[in-house]
Amino acid sequence: MGGLRVIIVGSGLAGLTAARILRENHHVTVYERGGATIATGGQGIIIAPNGAKILESIGYDRERAGAVPIYGIRIYDANGNVKEDFAMDLKPRFGADCLAQKRSDFRDELMRLATAPSATLGIQSEPAKMVFNAAVTGLDPEEGVVTLSDGSTATADVVVVADGVHSRLRNVVVGSDDYAARKTGLTCYRIAVSVEDAEKALGDLPLPHWWEPSTCQNRSSLLYGPDGSARMVTAYPLRNQTYFNLSCILRTQESTKSTTESWNVDGDRSKMMEEFGDFGEQLRRILSAATEVKVWELQDLEALPTWTRGRAMLIGDAAHAMTPMQGQGANMSIEDAESLRLLGPGTRREEVQKILELAESVRRPRTAQVLAETRKSHSTVGVAERATRNLEFNCGYNGIHEALKAHQGGLDV
Ligand SMILES: Cc1cc2nc3c(=O)[nH]c(=O)nc-3n(C[C@H](O)[C@H](O)[C@H](O)COP(=O)(O)OP(=O)(O)OC[C@H]3O[C@@H](n4cnc5c(N)ncnc54)[C@H](O)[C@@H]3O)c2cc1C
Repeated sequence: MGGLRVIIVGSGLAGLTAARILRENHHVTVYERGGATIATGGQGIIIAPNGAKILESIGYDRERAGAVPIYGIRIYDANGNVKEDFAMDLKPRFGADCLAQKRSDFRDELMRLATAPSATLGIQSEPAKMVFNAAVTGLDPEEGVVTLSDGSTATADVVVVADGVHSRLRNVVVGSDDYAARKTGLTCYRIAVSVEDAEKALGDLPLPHWWEPSTCQNRSSLLYGPDGSARMVTAYPLRNQTYFNLSCILRTQESTKSTTESWNVDGDRSKMMEEFGDFGEQLRRILSAATEVKVWELQDLEALPTWTRGRAMLIGDAAHAMTPMQGQGANMSIEDAESLRLLGPGTRREEVQKILELAESVRRPRTAQVLAETRKSHSTVGVAERATRNLEFNCGYNGIHEALKAHQGGLDV
């Protein structure tokens, strides 16, 4: 097979999706600084129809990932009384469901798509090669050369930089040290609780309305604190409804750690319980059942002036980190990865730069708009209404080819 040599830096959601897209026509090597089982946290992630459409087009198997379709957003008060319901059957409108899955299951499925033998995926190409425990420490974007932590180098025709929110290579591509992730003033405790653990913790109390499948009705539920503060809990089912994700969001109480230290660390369960102690008894008992509490000081990144340099392109959080307040960060990462379809079969090394710039011309303005809308939700007020209002823009995206046509016709995509 002909094809370009592609290096992808990072095996997160963006890097693995890009590996699956690019392996069809090119020779892909992924360098990951962590080990093969690098933790992504056992908590949940929701993929909206814009991301799900792309994933389904590359063989994503929702059954394997235990994905639960989400049919709307529901607002509750702190005691679990329904305040508002936004029903959304998105598949007829946008071509795919909204899917909630455990992050680890999601990553496993993306890894399968990137590395499984081609015959099992019904494609003709070689699997992406994964190199773990291989941090990339340097990049020459014009030549397509990366330097690894052991001092060795590797050369490619394309370098996809997908090394996450604290990207080490972003400044090389942007040509400036001015762009780094910044704290947003929001903190999020994240847990996943199994049905058995929840039932044990609840004792004589039933599963809450937002959990019990017959009343939950596949909603992503938002429980607001009783005092009108920013405190909010997002709850949705995972892994064939055998788990629930709970994201407990509040204003950051004290912030003494650097951005890299405060990103995804172990949290203190008793502190979380104290901070959400005025929510209803059922929620409090469920929080007490958490076995692994992760705490994230939510960060985002100012829109960048460029994503490409030479034969390198930033994608995913390295290009546009945003908070989960509109649930679009991973979706944008999947869309970025899909835009690399422009590097079609027969692409020559000398054509790479122009093609990456073309992809960027669609991706950068779109993600800047999603970032701006996400920031409007940092007050936590009106999250559901804003998500509903933005549905058409967020979920109506149908991949890079259609977007380019619209873009060249002067439309926003
Ligand atoms: C609390 C929370 C909840 C969220 N929920 C949602 C949601 O429901 N829906 C949604 O769409 N988005 C959500 N997001 C956003 C989503 O998680 C991110 O947008 C997504 O994970 C970004 O993927 P990525 O591949 O760009 O980065 P990452 O997943 O961070 O992957 C980067 C990878 O690069 C590796 N790496 C880093 N540096 C190097 C290096 N120098 N060399 C080699 N490898 C390196 C890392 O080890 C890692 O594996 C949420 C985010 C947070 C914080």
